[in-house]
Amino acid sequence: MADLAAFKRDARAWLEDNCPLSIRQPNRTAGDTVLAGPNKQFPNKDAEVWFQRMLEKRWITPGWPAEYGGGGLSAGEAKILKREMARLKCPSPVFDQGQAYFGPVIMEYGTEAQKMQHLPPIARGDTRWCQGYSEPGAGSDLASLKTRADDKGDHFLVNGTKIWTSGADKSDWIFCLVRTDFEAPKHQGISVLLIDMNTEGISTSPIELISGKSEFCQTFLDDVKVPKENLLGELNAGWAIAKRVLQYERKLMSGEEFFSAQGPDVVATAKKYIGTDEQGKIKNHKLRSEITRHLMHNHADLLNGTRIFFSAKTEDADPNLPLIMKYSATMELKNRDELMLSILGNRGLSWDDDEFNREEQVASQSWASTKAYTIAGGTSEVQLNIIAKRALGLPSR
Ligand SMILES: Cc1cc2nc3c(=O)[nH]c(=O)nc-3n(C[C@H](O)[C@H](O)[C@H](O)COP(=O)(O)OP(=O)(O)OC[C@H]3O[C@@H](n4cnc5c(N)ncnc54)[C@H](O)[C@@H]3O)c2cc1C
Repeated sequence: MADLAAFKRDARAWLEDNCPLSIRQPNRTAGDTVLAGPNKQFPNKDAEVWFQRMLEKRWITPGWPAEYGGGGLSAGEAKILKREMARLKCPSPVFDQGQAYFGPVIMEYGTEAQKMQHLPPIARGDTRWCQGYSEPGAGSDLASLKTRADDKGDHFLVNGTKIWTSGADKSDWIFCLVRTDFEAPKHQGISVLLIDMNTEGISTSPIELISGKSEFCQTFLDDVKVPKENLLGELNAGWAIAKRVLQYERKLMSGEEFFSAQGPDVVATAKKYIGTDEQGKIKNHKLRSEITRHLMHNHADLLNGTRIFFSAKTEDADPNLPLIMKYSATMELKNRDELMLSILGNRGLSWDDDEFNREEQVASQSWASTKAYTIAGGTSEVQLNIIAKRALGLPSR
């Protein structure tokens, strides 16, 4: 613990010295996120400086072992670093699904050759990954997926289509679920293939969104030859790996960085837009109690996150607690943004018009995008089913 306290002091000092103040701001938009890949786009010079400093420190993947390009921090140190970054509002220097979940899963299930091929580039932010899970007929019921991989001796021949593949048109690799046993019960015939997006036979088609921007693609795989060495884990044992990825994804969406580093300061915004009474309290009584409820909810999530972390390897660990966290955190994000729009009133009708300031634009854009968090990585309704079944032991029907 004394070591962790020293680490916290040092990490805080380093972050304060090295993360440029200009990017340590709330009210970030999606455009401020630096996405991994060979041609990274930095929104400004300071974001690039920050990326380079974190890269040199090997803190893009701080908790990964040094031999795979990580910072070699212990789990406790990595957690403290994340919290300090959130507290100081330091953004992630670069984001990719590879760092967040595919890398850790490759580390767990991959061969040494797969680890050496994929982990160091992910740790440098050099490759972008996308997730080939959902299909037109397989979303919540993911195990119904139909994309097939036929064994052709030295390679698999893959045919099918994936949908809602975020960033597929800009990705280098796809973490792809395929069916490899066509007779077995649906959960038992699935495998994971790591597929180079430049392979012949892969094409993507962007799906237009209401905002006019497009993050999603439909991904088509037509007679795509995938070398056998790109199979991750055992043949037909992909369902367990797929679920492991979802555990990481849901954990990410439950994490404190979701509701602290990126979020607006709700209290300061309310004081500015609604005004204060003679005691300095937010004038509107109803809003004040809603804000209090929101802050208490966030604080409870934060404490639960700490509890999960520190009890993980002890007999006190509550296996049910992590199940509720994705549901709880993402639903609260939606509530927060509803609250922000109530606070802003007419000013919350903005989008990216010059008539509105950045705080107002971010609030309305965030209101639209946080809806997606209760769908991505498993919908809230499906999460409630899981909680009902596994945590509460209720019957399926
Ligand atoms: C922002 C975002 C990014 C995404 N990125 C990716 C990606 O990169 N790769 C990828 O593969 N997928 C991605 N997805 C897709 C996502 O995984 C699916 O949208 C999600 O699993 C739900 O599937 P669906 O859209 O087919 O909805 P459906 O499964 O058709 O569900 C429709 C509605 O029915 C409800 N429902 C379904 N089954 C049940 C049930 N048993 N009990 C109660 N209610 C139920 C759902 O909650 C939902 O409200 C992304 C989605 C979003 C929103």
